[in-house]
Amino acid sequence: MNTLRIAGGQVLRPDATVEDADVLVDRDEGTILDIGADLDADETLDAEGCLVTPGLVNAHCHVAMTLLRGYADDKPLDAWLREDIWPAEAALTPEDVRVGAELGLVEMIKSGTTAFADMYFHVPEVAAAVDEAGLRARLGHGVVTLGKDDEDARADIDESLDVAREFDGAADGRIRTAAMPHSLTTVAEDYLREFVADAHAEDIPVHYHANETTDEVDPIVDERGERPLSYAKELGMLTADDFLAHGVHVDDAEIDLLADAGTGVVHCPASNMKLASGMAPVQKLLDAGVTVGLGTDGAASNNDLDMFDEMRDAAMLGKLAADDASAVAAGDVVRMATAGSADAIDLPGGALEVGGAADLAVVDLDAPHLTPANDLVSHLAYAARGSDVRHTVCDGRVLMRDREVLTLDEDAVMARASEAVASLRERV
Ligand SMILES: [Zn+2]
Repeated sequence: MNTLRIAGGQVLRPDATVEDADVLVDRDEGTILDIGADLDADETLDAEGCLVTPGLVNAHCHVAMTLLRGYADDKPLDAWLREDIWPAEAALTPEDVRVGAELGLVEMIKSGTTAFADMYFHVPEVAAAVDEAGLRARLGHGVVTLGKDDEDARADIDESLDVAREFDGAADGRIRTAAMPHSLTTVAEDYLREFVADAHAEDIPVHYHANETTDEVDPIVDERGERPLSYAKELGMLTADDFLAHGVHVDDAEIDLLADAGTGVVHCPASNMKLASGMAPVQKLLDAGVTVGLGTDGAASNNDLDMFDEMRDAAMLGKLAADDASAVAAGDVVRMATAGSADAIDLPGGALEVGGAADLAVVDLDAPHLTPANDLVSHLAYAARGSDVRHTVCDGRVLMRDREVLTLDEDAVMARASEAVASLRERV
């Protein structure tokens, strides 16, 4: 057996307690063998003065959008998509998506993220980048039928189902897939109904954007006389396997529907604030027993993929939304960014426990902004930054050691990404 010891740190356990312990990892199986004192191993990662946490799980992303970071800001969602983002995305080549994905994956590894869910296009390129980078992912091809003729709409749906079939289990099982209609308003009803039924017939989960802005909710209410999530339920896309992003404008009946169905909701607070989409009722969702994960959304609406930022944003915005400073507490957001996200997107990880996935981040506590160590869960939620992560491990493999990314060439990826965008700007 080939073992790795994460030695001398404090370990965050699933019950939110912290204990002084080593973590012993079986690198062949990618699992945690033991959590305890003075464990022996083939290789050691020093975690002295550090907090060992589950790897963070970014449950909703469009990773290759790192290329559009800062490309267009300060506009409402609809105008931003139509005037800036969609025209730029239409010009992205498969090679662009590959380097954009690699850039995002370097950023994730450097900020302690070990798993993510991603909706984009040229998915084979994203999958190849994930395979090389060493993370886990649930990937899918996003479908829009709005403005397309029947042939193009069907081709888009077929591509989404094809990549979901082809890449499920890729990268030694680290990649899983989903069918991904973009949203309830950008895919027409007939297509949506057929698409979801076809996906579920093959046990492929469905991931989509829902109730993100009032502009997306009102047309459904006006045309159908029902709320979007009641429509989603009728379409069969509100099951325990499915998960949706945003859920900002959900009423109490929709929260009950989510809780009853077991459908995961991925909260994306930075994107919701930046696009002025609104404040998700996160405390209400938690109180109702809804599985809530946390995601950055794409880098163009965030503008980074740092899940530590996202935890702080979630706590702050959740309190404002509830008008209650005790709402969405530090422990809640840490749970959302780890176990909640892993549950929502149904990937291993999210907790440090014997027998569980060896997906973890080692956070260096030796920093002025993390001193004194009054409460390490509070520090994770409110004070730590992605750049405090010293080592990142996924599936038992060290992806970053002492801030050096081992699976991708960080400098080369940044240079290629800058070149790709210079060329994109000339084309658009
Ligand atoms: Zn999104």
